[in-house]
Formats: sequence, C-alpha cells, structure tokens
Amino acid sequence: MQHSVFDHLPWTGKDWGELWSHPGGLPHALLIAGPTGLGKRAFAEAIAARLLCERATRAEPACGQCDACRWFSAGNHPDFRWVIPEADADELPVEEAQAEKSTEKPDKKKSKQIRVEQVRALADFVYVGSHRAKGRVIIVQPAEAMNAAAANSLLKVLEEPPSNIYFILVSDAYRRLLPTLRSRCRIILLNRPEHQVAADWLERQQPEANRLLNITGGMPLSALAAAESGWNKIVPALENSLIDVDQDELSLASAWEILLKNADSFTMEDLITLLQKWLSDLIEYELAGRSRFFVDSAQPMKKLLARTSTSVLLHCYNQLLSARPLANHPLNARLFLEDLAARYLLTFAQRPTSRLQTNRPQAAHS
Ligand SMILES: [Zn+2]
Repeated sequence: MQHSVFDHLPWTGKDWGELWSHPGGLPHALLIAGPTGLGKRAFAEAIAARLLCERATRAEPACGQCDACRWFSAGNHPDFRWVIPEADADELPVEEAQAEKSTEKPDKKKSKQIRVEQVRALADFVYVGSHRAKGRVIIVQPAEAMNAAAANSLLKVLEEPPSNIYFILVSDAYRRLLPTLRSRCRIILLNRPEHQVAADWLERQQPEANRLLNITGGMPLSALAAAESGWNKIVPALENSLIDVDQDELSLASAWEILLKNADSFTMEDLITLLQKWLSDLIEYELAGRSRFFVDSAQPMKKLLARTSTSVLLHCYNQLLSARPLANHPLNARLFLEDLAARYLLTFAQRPTSRLQTNRPQAAHS
C-alpha cells in the first residue's frame, strides 16, 4: 500500500484535505508556495500522482498500485512532465535516479534558469490529447527559475488552458513571480509544521537530524538534508570556532577553510547564512533572553555578549549582508574568509565602536 504524502509528511494533511474539498474543484494551475524544506515538491508530486492515478477518488491519495501509479513512480508516465532548470536535471525525484545520484559536482555550464524553449517544447504535450483518460500534469519547479520569456510563454498557456491539463508550480519565493502569472494560479501556502510534529517526524527518519531542526529554521526536510550532508559535525565545529573570539583572524579563517574544504555540501554561502543566524541569535538573546537557531549555546553567547553590544552586532550583521552577493565567487576565497573573520572578531573587541572604523583592509573585494 502506497504511503500518502500526509503519512509521509504529516503536517501537509490539512492542506491536502482543503485542496480536494475546495468548492471550486481543482483549478488548471496550482502554485505550491512556502519556505525551503517544507516538502513542497513531495506535495506537488502527490497531487500529480493522485491526478493520474486510475483508482483513487476524491481526497484519497494515489493508490500506488495501478499502471498509472507504477509509471509515475518509475518516472515514465506519458501524461506527466517535469519542467526544471537544466542544472537540476540530475535531481529528479525518481527513486532510481536518487539511488544512482552521482557524487560529481554539478556542471557549472548547465542553466539554473527555466528557459523559454523548455516551456515552448510543452506545446505538443499540452495541446495533444492525453494517453490515458486522466488528463495531463506538469510540475514547474522552482517556478521562480523561469526567466521572463519563459514566464510569459507559460502565462499564454494559462490564459486559455486546454481542458484536462494541470500545471503545478512549486516556489520558494512566489512573490518574485509575475503578478499576472500568480493571479492565474490558486496559491497554496503550505502550512509549517509545529516544532513537535517536525521533531517527531525527524525522530522516525533520522534521529540525528533532530539536532539540526532549529538551525534550519524548523524546516524538517532541510534538517534531514543537512544531516545527510554531514552538518551534524559541521555545525558544532563552526560553533566552536565562533565561541573562541580570542584567536586571530588567520586561525579563525583557517578553521572555516577546513570546514569548507572537507564538505562539498557546505558552501561559502552556507557559512555566511550560519554566521548571520549566529549573530541574529546573539542579538535576540541580548534583547529577549532567548535564541532561535543555536538554542544550546546560551552559556557561550552570554559570555560573548559581555564583550559587545547590540549596535555592534547589527553592524557586523549588515556587513555580512553586503558580503553575501560575493560569497559564491570571491576573487580570492582565502582573503574573503580572513576579511569575514576579522570583521567577526572585531565585533567582540573590548571597545569595539572606536576600532570599527579603523584600518581593516577590504582584502577580499578591493
Ligand atoms: Zn493508482
């Protein structure tokens, strides 16, 4: 028996029920939105499977046993298409594909956009009748990866959709989509799980991942992915490096460099994201006496706060924001790290405000 998406991701059960009991029925275009790590893609796939399934009725999930369900899970149902950026093609959520997932780094030349040619290439699929009786389904993911021409091309189809065709757009950042495109879709903002629901779910998947639930903003699939990428070791090591503010910037930069070199799954951008979370925790701890991401670090945070102030922390936070666009292609990665490290350490210098304006060279990007 097939597990339904809400057995699999229990927090999606309410959204699933509402979707199928909507008085307007199912529209031609759905937009599944919400932050990364909620299970939007799995939810979209469950809808697609249910639409194509030849046995399920109403709000039942796909049966998992009929021909249509078998083709769908094997990734070759003739009435189903993925539209994804070329760069993501290796990540198609077909079980076999995942099992054989290559450890090679993605080819940088592959486009991260969904191009207009990909949308135009759907014409035959969209305007020709379905192979089976259940209609045709297209998942576009992530929808915000469509460039302007692709989005306009899709909009034309959605303005006069052929019967029995369903578009399911999936987006982490749906406000970036063309308003005209959004207005053609029914938007489903997937509910976030309660912390305990997410924690219980992770406990069943991979108990180790629970330690990463807070750091990933309470998003269970992000926590699971992080655990599978070895973040259970990376995060405590990073934490240790951040607690020791008496080291010099060279040794702090080296500590970060080692983390980056040892794990493909930990990028410069991830480092900046975690630094920002650390700083925002410090600020929140100072202002409200609690933290959100590094919840087990109350004691070291207390010590750090004695050496700085909210305004200096904010200053450092803003510097990270401006460094962020450079994170994926710094001119010199080592200098970039040293610069970040120096800025971080200055935040905890004894009289930080008087020293902030002084002689730190802008090593990485000058
Ligand atoms: Zn079925």
